[in-house]
Amino acid sequence: MEDRATADRQAGEDGQLLGADDRQDGCQSVLQGSLRIRDGAIGCAQPGASPACRRRLPRDCIHYAADIDWEISTETYVEALNREVRGLRDKTEVWCHTCWGNPLAQRIESSYSYKPVLPYLDRLDVDVITFETADNSGAELPEIAAAVSRDKKICIGVVSHRTLQVEQPDEVAALIRNALRYIEPERLVLSSDCGFGRQGMSRLRAFYKMIAIVAGANIVREELGLPKVAIPAADPRYSLVR
Ligand SMILES: [Zn+2]
Repeated sequence: MEDRATADRQAGEDGQLLGADDRQDGCQSVLQGSLRIRDGAIGCAQPGASPACRRRLPRDCIHYAADIDWEISTETYVEALNREVRGLRDKTEVWCHTCWGNPLAQRIESSYSYKPVLPYLDRLDVDVITFETADNSGAELPEIAAAVSRDKKICIGVVSHRTLQVEQPDEVAALIRNALRYIEPERLVLSSDCGFGRQGMSRLRAFYKMIAIVAGANIVREELGLPKVAIPAADPRYSLVR
């Protein structure tokens, strides 16, 4: 590992997250870069930090950490993730999950859009990118499909993690049909908008939402002449409610 002075100089020279060169082990890169930024931020947040120190901070920033005096650019996030997963696609399918959060299944934004970050997402060195699309009824499907390159699959949410009402299979099928207007079936993956963690809803609701995904997909599969998938969980014999 490089000495601290060298690391600090590299981290600050051009606003890049990582000053280390390509010889550096990939597993160390993000950790080291994070530590450098943290250390740099601590130093620059101190009263009396020199102008030279402040010039080390990254520019072109959209993310602002309120309690410290530095920001991380979108470019830096892209670079960090790509360094972290470099070479991984040769070994497995790499996914990037995106969502707008779900504390206690509450909406924390009244309006949101993927549009500003779509070019950045497409630059990620991953195989699949997930998008929330159920919560806004697929409003941004055309833009998402146009922005994501064909070497990537697109995973769309077809059930919401913020509504307690379980989607009906017909609703799910309608959203899938809409997505197929823009995305080839072999590149389309179905999921929930986000996970059902954080105790946002009961396990039973989450269970039936997952069933709705498969039941809705089966409707479309049948329309396309594809074999349907067995859903033991939808079999009345195994119902959790009577
Ligand atoms: Zn999520």
